[in-house]
Amino acid sequence: MNRDRRQKPALLVQIVRERIERLFSLAKQNFSPHPERSKRYMNIARRLSTRYLVRFSSEQKKQFCKQCSAFLAVGKNARVRLREGKIELKCLECGKVKSTPFKKAKKPARA
Ligand SMILES: [Zn+2]
Repeated sequence: MNRDRRQKPALLVQIVRERIERLFSLAKQNFSPHPERSKRYMNIARRLSTRYLVRFSSEQKKQFCKQCSAFLAVGKNARVRLREGKIELKCLECGKVKSTPFKKAKKPARA
């Protein structure tokens, strides 16, 4: 596999991950007083993630819009709906819908 050909120093990855976490918490704190800032924080976090190939956690992925990079706060600029076995998270700033299937309990194997 070519993906991990270049070794990333563990310390670098750790620092980048911490910066991303910090940016997420700043975006959260600044969301109500300065919505523009939280968008900017999300842009920086996404740039760090692509540049250093550090992945967002699944929790983090739910917190911004993939299309317009807005920080998503449910009840403010995002809406959650359950439909056809999927969780739909809609960004009310650009209208992008992100849908994630439910985790269903594994069915027992047929006899
Ligand atoms: Zn959006």
